[in-house]
Amino acid sequence: MNIHEYQAKQLLAKCGVAVPFEIPARSLAEVRPAAEKIAASGSAKIVVKSQIHAGGRGKGTFKSGFQGGVKVASSVDEAVGYAEKMLGNVLVTKQTGAEGRQVRTLLLAAGAKIKREFYLAVLLDRANSRPLVMASTEGGMDIEEVAEKSPEKIFKEWIDPAVGIMPFQARKIAAAFGLKGDLFNAGVKLITGVYNTWWECDATMVELNPLCIVELADGKETVMALDAKISLDDNAL
Ligand code: ADP
Ligand code: MG
Repeated sequence: MNIHEYQAKQLLAKCGVAVPFEIPARSLAEVRPAAEKIAASGSAKIVVKSQIHAGGRGKGTFKSGFQGGVKVASSVDEAVGYAEKMLGNVLVTKQTGAEGRQVRTLLLAAGAKIKREFYLAVLLDRANSRPLVMASTEGGMDIEEVAEKSPEKIFKEWIDPAVGIMPFQARKIAAAFGLKGDLFNAGVKLITGVYNTWWECDATMVELNPLCIVELADGKETVMALDAKISLDDNAL
């Protein structure tokens, strides 16, 4: 079973993974107050994100002709305008097939100032009977394409399920991202939290694409999950 991005992020946040300030909205009536809260939180940008059970939303097209299932607005009115184009409409992406998916829920998110984008996933490697953490500096891209064209850019770390992720393994992955100093420590915490989410939720996959280094209002940098996908094991349900 797949869950929406906003639900995945709620589960990740419970395990200590940093995510942006975000509010889901199921109707236009809910969009404006949500956008106002995000603006009031001090965010100059409000990201309006279509919630469908498929990726590639940013580069998707609505059947109405409207371009983009993820839009960055600079004001509450602009965010409401994007929401009007998305809610109830059918979004077609590389992953939905030609029939597309109807958008019934939006996620309003504080716009992050992205410095770098990474890819991080935990999945079950059935061939090795082990959880596998995959990490790449090629974030925000189609990971299948990276795996095909430059497999050396995907770092893999297998986890002993009886022990869980060991601190040295989380450090190896943070080092593979090239993180240093405070960002390295924040990365280790985030990576550990992502593995723990996978384990605690009986997930078959947890995928962050992108996981980002973002710049905060005070100029400091931190790591944060800007997109998340979780698939749950139907048997575990
Ligand atoms: P999808 O993978 O379905 O296209 P994403 O959530 O990854 O959807 O959004 C597409 C792109 O939009 C991301 O790669 C990222 O660059 C940008 N983005 C997403 N959420 C935010 C946010 N909260 N702040 C700033 N940029 C964002
Ligand atoms: Mg994404």
